[in-house]
Amino acid sequence: MLSEEIKNKYQLVVGLEVHAQLLTASKMFAADSTEFGNLPNTLISVITLGHPGTLPKVNKKAIEYAVKMGLACHCEITRTNIFSRKNYFYPDLPKGYQITQDKGPICVGGKVPIRLADGSTREIQLNRIHLEEDAGKSIHLDGEPDTLVDFNRAGTPLIEIVTEPNIYTSEEAYAFLTEIKKLVKYLDICDGNMEEGSLRCDANVSVMLKGAKELGKKVEVKNMNSFRNVVRAIEHEFERMVGMLEEGKEIISETRTFDANTGTTSGMRTKEELNDYRYFPEPDLSPVVISEEWLQSIQSAMPTLPRDLYKKFTEEYGLPDYDASFLTESKELALWFDELCRETSLYKAASNWMMGPIKSYLNETATHIYDFTINPKRLAELLALIEEGKVSSSIASQKIFPELIKTPKVSPFEIAQKLNLIQESDETSLKPIIEEVLKENGQKVAEYKSGKKGLTGFFMGQVMRKSNGKADPKVATKLLTELLNN
Ligand code: ADP
Ligand code: MG
Repeated sequence: MLSEEIKNKYQLVVGLEVHAQLLTASKMFAADSTEFGNLPNTLISVITLGHPGTLPKVNKKAIEYAVKMGLACHCEITRTNIFSRKNYFYPDLPKGYQITQDKGPICVGGKVPIRLADGSTREIQLNRIHLEEDAGKSIHLDGEPDTLVDFNRAGTPLIEIVTEPNIYTSEEAYAFLTEIKKLVKYLDICDGNMEEGSLRCDANVSVMLKGAKELGKKVEVKNMNSFRNVVRAIEHEFERMVGMLEEGKEIISETRTFDANTGTTSGMRTKEELNDYRYFPEPDLSPVVISEEWLQSIQSAMPTLPRDLYKKFTEEYGLPDYDASFLTESKELALWFDELCRETSLYKAASNWMMGPIKSYLNETATHIYDFTINPKRLAELLALIEEGKVSSSIASQKIFPELIKTPKVSPFEIAQKLNLIQESDETSLKPIIEEVLKENGQKVAEYKSGKKGLTGFFMGQVMRKSNGKADPKVATKLLTELLNN
């Protein structure tokens, strides 16, 4: 283990490369379906298999999805797009090359704002976002000497989001990935599922002495299948590299693979062994030109982004950062909440309900917000009942809310009436209850009168019990104090 003092001498530097599988119905250059989970080698065609004489054709949707992501990340959009061949041999690549973008990616530069746990914000600079096709999948079954290949995935459109080396902590890397996942889901261009491989991340890591002018040699770490594992891999690499430098050893540029079981990495290949991909422009595809008109139509179809909703929730609704972050985690939840706020102006109470009873209910029953039976209008009515003092918030969440889920057509007020839950805020009906409590507890009343004012809580408890929780606490407390001090 390295001491904090030694670690503090060094600066971690990370650049991330994120692949996102686009949610197009068909492949990047062929009409085959991109559906997940089919029998191996059922979603293939002569184009996908790279038969001689076949011609690729660009998927228009894939171009639009890439542009959407570029617009969301403030990139410059390349108007004339040329595809290139990246040549290498691998069993899951039947053509012997991958069609990708080399020089002239579809989105250039750009930035992604992130928010960290301490409330601070940063902008992660992007180098580019380019379009390419996915390879097939090699499958190594336990105990089998052969490698099986499934080409269903081959040709699926991908965007690769490449950051500049300006991520400086593992927390920033995590926040960046979370933001990317949120963005692609809001844009509806990728399902963001890292476990199923629709979002994949390689981490380039280097270390240098703090204040150094030149970046250290980097290693590229692959095979992390969760954001958490990206963080583990980065932290492991930092320690390993600092350890090496402290021992006077030189770091070699190499590709390493992460082992989730041990939390460590091991070398796969060094840069020297790396292929020369002999990129050249794909001769079978003419350039894809994005006209002003096309760009405008993509721009005008952009949905509200999480950062816009975050801004609205914090600035317009006055919610704390915590609430706004929670509410914008998923697009559906954010939009549901936004609709709720059109029905009520009790924003903070509304947010508390989202983070409390609604979230618990959705989690416990594995229900998605779009299958939630209560609509925003009904919930707003319930919030109003609480605000008007007709029901207490605990009665509302424990008794009315479950009933409302079952019978969302019946108004919360009717439910409260039917279940006899309307709070007693009427002094004339509360008074006899309080008087009864005082009569039953003569001893305690005497103690109160001799100075034990802390007994108020005890009396209130009795009043609540006698009223079956229906006494309006504000009115009851006032009345109780009056009667006790009589
Ligand atoms: P390569 O030529 O090895 O592919 P690139 O310059 O294309 O390298 O960068 C690939 C990724 O590596 C980018 O995300 C970039 O930000 C990152 N990167 C480059 N240099 C470093 C470094 N010294 N430390 C950490 N990340 C780096
Ligand atoms: Mg590169």
